[in-house]
Amino acid sequence: MTSLLSLSQLSVKVGRTRLLDGVGFSLERGEILGLVGESGSGKSLTALAITGLLPLIGASVAEGAIRFDGADLTRMTDRELRRLRGGRIGFVMQNPMTALDPVQRVGGQIDVVSRLHLGLSASAARSRTLDLMTQLRIPDAGAVADAYPHQLSGGMKQRVVIAMALAGDPDLIIADEPTTALDVTVQAQIIQILTTLVRERGLALLLITHDMGVVAQVCDRVAVLYAGRIAEERSVAGIFSNPAHPYTRALIGCIPQEAMEAGGLRGIPGSVPTAATYPAGCRFHPRCVSAISQCAIDRPKERPLPDGGTVACHLASAGAL
Ligand code: SF4
Ligand code: MG
Repeated sequence: MTSLLSLSQLSVKVGRTRLLDGVGFSLERGEILGLVGESGSGKSLTALAITGLLPLIGASVAEGAIRFDGADLTRMTDRELRRLRGGRIGFVMQNPMTALDPVQRVGGQIDVVSRLHLGLSASAARSRTLDLMTQLRIPDAGAVADAYPHQLSGGMKQRVVIAMALAGDPDLIIADEPTTALDVTVQAQIIQILTTLVRERGLALLLITHDMGVVAQVCDRVAVLYAGRIAEERSVAGIFSNPAHPYTRALIGCIPQEAMEAGGLRGIPGSVPTAATYPAGCRFHPRCVSAISQCAIDRPKERPLPDGGTVACHLASAGAL
């Protein structure tokens, strides 16, 4: 069976600069895949590429394919993409305010999705909206539906955005750091509500995050992005028990609890290079504690791992991982 979503050799550019460079991963039906990496690694860009929104930031697909249920999204017209967005592909953005219209009542904003994508009547759409709001544990859904976004807390607004993403009866939800703009106290709650609903409905979720703790808790598999390339793609069990890529190991070292057990919070020295300053060879080499001389010259190829994952590191080909 084909994957629900698969990216192969995807490159995205702005002008002559390649921001994503040969990115590939796949997502199966009913699966939660974490896409992780520090900010600047290309996570949001990947989400924009899948949803056909690259033109918003002046970027475009240079090479490669994005297959959703067999069809290549990079070859679709704007009209076809608009039909998919909000319909079979739901999108939850980082900041709920960018997804909500400040001058419309939130219930109406959810109604519109199922009217447009499922062809429901106004009354059928409203009862679907109230039902979804209740499933998202929004207390007093009727009153909240009549509110304007500014009357709601950040956590409540993000529940409304998740209801909008679910309203079109999607097969796939893409959530780009869905809790980053929220208070720490409500972050865990929103992730739990989102992933519970996704599991109950058998939907696929691409969860973009920089939080390896969240990945450990809710994801089935992980793709690790570094400077526009995939460093490692693995099952969650594999990546936490035996991370193959030095960057993954460093990221896992950044989980507060595990880092504390190891004796202090370790950051990864240095920062993700910008696209204009991507180094030759392995892009992680200036920060890598395991780098060998070849790393500054040759780009590491993706290698299969015994557990079905892949890793792009010269030490893997040398059998040293
Ligand atoms: Fe480190 Fe070299 Fe592996 Fe890159 S290829 S992660 S620099 S060891
Ligand atoms: Mg981002």
